[in-house]
Amino acid sequence: MDKILIVDDDAGIRNSMQEFMKGAGYNSFTASNAEEALELLKSDIVDVVIADIILIGMDGLELTDFIKQNYDTDVIIMTGYSEKYSYEDAINKGASDLVFKPIHYKELMLRLKRVLKERHHTKERTQMLKTLEKLAITDGLTKLYNSRHFYSQLEIEIGRCNRYGHSLALLLLDIDNFKKCNDTYGHLEGDKVLVRLGQIIKSCLRTMDSAYRYGGEEFTIILPETTGKEAKNVAQRISDAVESERFSPETREDFSITISIGVTEYYKKEQLSTFIHRADKAMYKSKAKGRNRISFLVAEKAG
Ligand code: GH3
Ligand code: MG
Ligand code: MG
Repeated sequence: MDKILIVDDDAGIRNSMQEFMKGAGYNSFTASNAEEALELLKSDIVDVVIADIILIGMDGLELTDFIKQNYDTDVIIMTGYSEKYSYEDAINKGASDLVFKPIHYKELMLRLKRVLKERHHTKERTQMLKTLEKLAITDGLTKLYNSRHFYSQLEIEIGRCNRYGHSLALLLLDIDNFKKCNDTYGHLEGDKVLVRLGQIIKSCLRTMDSAYRYGGEEFTIILPETTGKEAKNVAQRISDAVESERFSPETREDFSITISIGVTEYYKKEQLSTFIHRADKAMYKSKAKGRNRISFLVAEKAG
C-alpha cells in the first residue's frame, strides 16, 4: 500500500488531511515540521511526502531538496496563493507537483494519483532495465556470466591490479572428452552437465570471485587478490568436486566427468590478451599431459 507522509505545522490541517487519506485508502502519517519528517523517513519507506512550503525551521523547499538528494520519494508541495514562492521554485527543487491552499481534496487526489502512477511506471522501467542489463551479461544455459562480461570484468581487475599492485589469478577450464559425453548420452544430457558444472564451480568460489562460460564447454574464473599458488588450490577444489559428481541419465548407467584446468597469475603491466593466452596454454598443457589435471604457467618475464 502506498505510504503518504503529511508535513504541516497546523494540527487541524494534518488531522483533516490524514482523515481524508484514510478515506481514500492510503496509509498516511504526519509530521509537524521538516526535522520530524526526516526522522520518520529514516525508519520508513515513504512513497509521497505532501509538505507545506512554510514550516518552522527547515522550510518545505529545503525539505524537498534534502529528500530528493537522499531518498527515492516523491514530494508534493502545498502553498498559499499569496506566498512568494512559485511553481518553478518547487519543481526546480525536485517536487513532483504543487497544490494551493486551502486544499481542494478532489484536486489533491487527482494530483496524488498522477504522481503515484508515474512513480509506479518509473519503478517498472527501472526494474525492466535491470533485468535487461542482467540478461546481457548472463549465459542463458548455465546462468554464469557470459564471455562478453568476462572481457570487461577482466579489464577492470587488471586495472585494479596495476594500480594497487595486488595479485590476480585466472583459471581456464575445459571438460575432458565432452564430445564423447554428448555422443554417448545425448546433447540434452550434455547440457545438464554444463548447468551442473556451473553450479559446482560457483559453490567453490568466494563472493569476490566470478565465473564465466567462456565458450561451449569452456569456463573461466577470475580470482582477484589471489596468487597463482592460492589459485591452484581453488582449481584443485573444483576439480575434486567435479570428479566426485555423479550424473544419472534416465536410460543409461551413471557417469562422471573430469576437467582440465589452466592456472596463471597476472604479471604487472602485461596485456589482457597475453594473460588469457597463458591461461589457455596452461589448460592445453593439462590436455597434452593426459587430461584431468591442473597446470600452472607463470609469465616468461616473471619466471
Ligand atoms: P577435449 O578433452 O580435448 O576437450 O575433448 P572434447 O571432446 O571436450 O573437445 P572438443 O572441442 O572436440 O569438443 C567439445 C564439445 O563440446 C563439442 C560440442 O558438441 C560440445 N559442446 C559445446 N557447446 C555445447 C553445449 O552448449 N551443449 C552441449 N551439450 N555440448 C556442447
Ligand atoms: Mg573445448
Ligand atoms: Mg573439451
